[in-house]
Amino acid sequence: MPLSKGRNHVGTSNHLNTSKIAATGYGINNCFTKLVPPRCLVMHAKNKVKNFLFHRVNPVRDELWDPMDVGKFDQCVRYLSKNYLVLTLEEACDKSFSGTPDKPIATISFDDGYRDNLEYAAPILQKYGCPASFYIVTDCIDKGRMVWTQEIKHLFQCTTLLQFNSDLSYLPEKFRVAGWKDRKQRLAYARNIRDFLLTANPLVRECFLNNIRLAFPDVLPLNPMMSWAEVRELHSAGFIIGSHTRTHPVLPNLENAAEIEAEMGFSGCRIQEMLGSYPISMAYPFGAYDQKVSAAAYRTGYKYGVTSNQQWYYSDKDSPYAISRTLLSNEPWIKTLSRMNGSFERIKELIKGKPQHPWKSMLVATKGVKSAGVLTSEALNSFP
Ligand SMILES: [Zn+2]
Repeated sequence: MPLSKGRNHVGTSNHLNTSKIAATGYGINNCFTKLVPPRCLVMHAKNKVKNFLFHRVNPVRDELWDPMDVGKFDQCVRYLSKNYLVLTLEEACDKSFSGTPDKPIATISFDDGYRDNLEYAAPILQKYGCPASFYIVTDCIDKGRMVWTQEIKHLFQCTTLLQFNSDLSYLPEKFRVAGWKDRKQRLAYARNIRDFLLTANPLVRECFLNNIRLAFPDVLPLNPMMSWAEVRELHSAGFIIGSHTRTHPVLPNLENAAEIEAEMGFSGCRIQEMLGSYPISMAYPFGAYDQKVSAAAYRTGYKYGVTSNQQWYYSDKDSPYAISRTLLSNEPWIKTLSRMNGSFERIKELIKGKPQHPWKSMLVATKGVKSAGVLTSEALNSFP
């Protein structure tokens, strides 16, 4: 079913202002006056924002990358629309807000650009009147391919072959194999090579992907990503389209600032070419960033950079290039609910002390030797 047209609140210029926010119908002033009589107001900090991150939403289970169930997503959006003032990320993080909201502020975003975001998530968001941002990987849209980490997983899981007839001389010796004794060994190889490729030169990654596409012809290609026509449909329904880079690399692991800027700038220009304006915000793949990544986001024309370290974002003191988001996936409802109302972080803090950024080990490692094991398994399993 086609999406209904939006109220033109997609901000793609680099400068939002309060009159534009008010015109959207999602602005603080509108909600403030429409929903609650002034004498009953419970004031909430306008600079404190909880950003929620989703990936896939689908009724069909998928062992490759289990989507959030559609019914559960509906429950989530219903909960968020009832308990938060849901704004676009650009509105919520803008410091020029006036007024004081009667509920805590939240935003909703999606990473990677899956087709099921348009099919299942967008109609539910519209049902509850919630705006959202969708961060797309432009090469995946251009080439009709899934995110590379998922493609490796898909090919190694679905092939029946145990022989690997490829020239792998460009890889370290331990990865130059001619085959595996069984499926289990093949899947273990897939996990190890994926971890290696997260830190390797992007050309090595591309070579390896070409190798496996040819080596496993028994696997049908899968394309769960949106096409440009579908991205355009989301955009004209009033949702925001942001950049999630060109090829979905671990940005801090790229060789230099020029490579990081190329990933960000190219995807921004491609979105501008296809949708008519340069995106305002950028989502770092795997939530991984460091100082040079934030600086590159600024230099390539983005106003905001979003990550995923499960905390509140304070627009008056936190960097606009390190905006926290809380990841929601297909977990049991009680866990999802505790992440949405913030009790999950509080319990974790009580048990373990201060919450630790899942990318801490990576950020430390990238300052030193790049070839060190950089991604924690917790972080890897949370992302495609
Ligand atoms: Zn991603």
